[in-house]
Amino acid sequence: MIYLDNSATTPIDPEVSKAMWPYLTEEYGNPSSKYYTLAENAKKAVEEARSHVASLLSCQPDEIIFTSCATESNNFVLKGIVHYYKNKGKHIITSKIEHKSILETCKFLESEGYEVTYLDVDQYGQVQLETLKNAIREDTILVSIMWGNNEIGTLNNIEELAKYVKEHHPHVFFHTDATQVLGKIEVDLSKVPVDFLSLSAHKMYGPKGIGACFIRKRELGLRTKITPLLHGGNQEDGYRSGTLSVHNIVGLGKAAEIAKANLKEHQTKLLELEKQLVSALKENFPNIKFNGHPKQKIPGVINFTIPGINNELIIRSLKDEFAISTGSACSINEPSYVLSAIGLNVMEVKSSFRVSLNKYIDYNEINNFCINFKKTVENLMI
Ligand code: PMP
Repeated sequence: MIYLDNSATTPIDPEVSKAMWPYLTEEYGNPSSKYYTLAENAKKAVEEARSHVASLLSCQPDEIIFTSCATESNNFVLKGIVHYYKNKGKHIITSKIEHKSILETCKFLESEGYEVTYLDVDQYGQVQLETLKNAIREDTILVSIMWGNNEIGTLNNIEELAKYVKEHHPHVFFHTDATQVLGKIEVDLSKVPVDFLSLSAHKMYGPKGIGACFIRKRELGLRTKITPLLHGGNQEDGYRSGTLSVHNIVGLGKAAEIAKANLKEHQTKLLELEKQLVSALKENFPNIKFNGHPKQKIPGVINFTIPGINNELIIRSLKDEFAISTGSACSINEPSYVLSAIGLNVMEVKSSFRVSLNKYIDYNEINNFCINFKKTVENLMI
């Protein structure tokens, strides 16, 4: 099986699973327990992992809160901020092509009486600064714009958008969902003034079921108050109660450490594989159309349309040997709202594919995929 659906999830790096193993076996202490070594070991491992995540983002370790996934981080920030500051404003701004964990949370908040503006994106899937500027109101409390899109790979200019918001509307909070970009592009929160960021381990060779949230420290070193989703034993300074998943946190920490150390190498590998894939596809399918931004994009993620071909039929025909997708695994039963938002019609959406690469793929596998993809398309056209 050649796995080319790494935006859905990545395989676990063997170094990550190796680092996790002791915490699934002999080191089973609860990091919130006190005074004995087994608990202290667990606490130490958690704090070391926190430092690695902070280092990946260029922020302070105490600006990182562990959650169960990016979906939880997104829910936590959106609901937690608007609930805590409900007397300051009831207007939220996001974009039309966010992940479902943002869009469905916004829908829920609308049912509670909040107002949400869903910004249009341009033909490449980017939020333009002017569009954001025009949407900000007196009562806007939160802006949430994704760093990189999970279906088309387009990157937003988060630095420009966040700087504008924080300079001109300092009372408005800025959140970004960076789930798809970590380890693939540089994310330096000492330069990009977002207030909150969501991430997930399983998109960067870490385990499923663990995520994190960055919460920027404000004046006097105080962190922004957020109403928690989970109330209980006050773990994570009360932001997120529940016994910490030590083995998963250690896995996230290791994945972050590797992502930081290998960023350039990883980027280069993904870009080279992508170049090879794109040129082979262009050669074999003269009428192919690539979706998303041609340059400002996540390395290793491509989305393309081959007119007249049914994507589902092709993916099913290839399924035992190759894993590719029609788009997001999180909204699989409906046609892509992301592709519709950038202007594709229904037929084009049904003829579109996402291929997303990882660091373990080699050039022969890309060739092998292209040959089989072409064969399958030709067979189904007969
Ligand atoms: N945001 C984006 C952009 C994603 O791609 C995903 C995963 N598909 C999520 C959030 C949700 O991540 P998780 O699976 O960790 O909940």
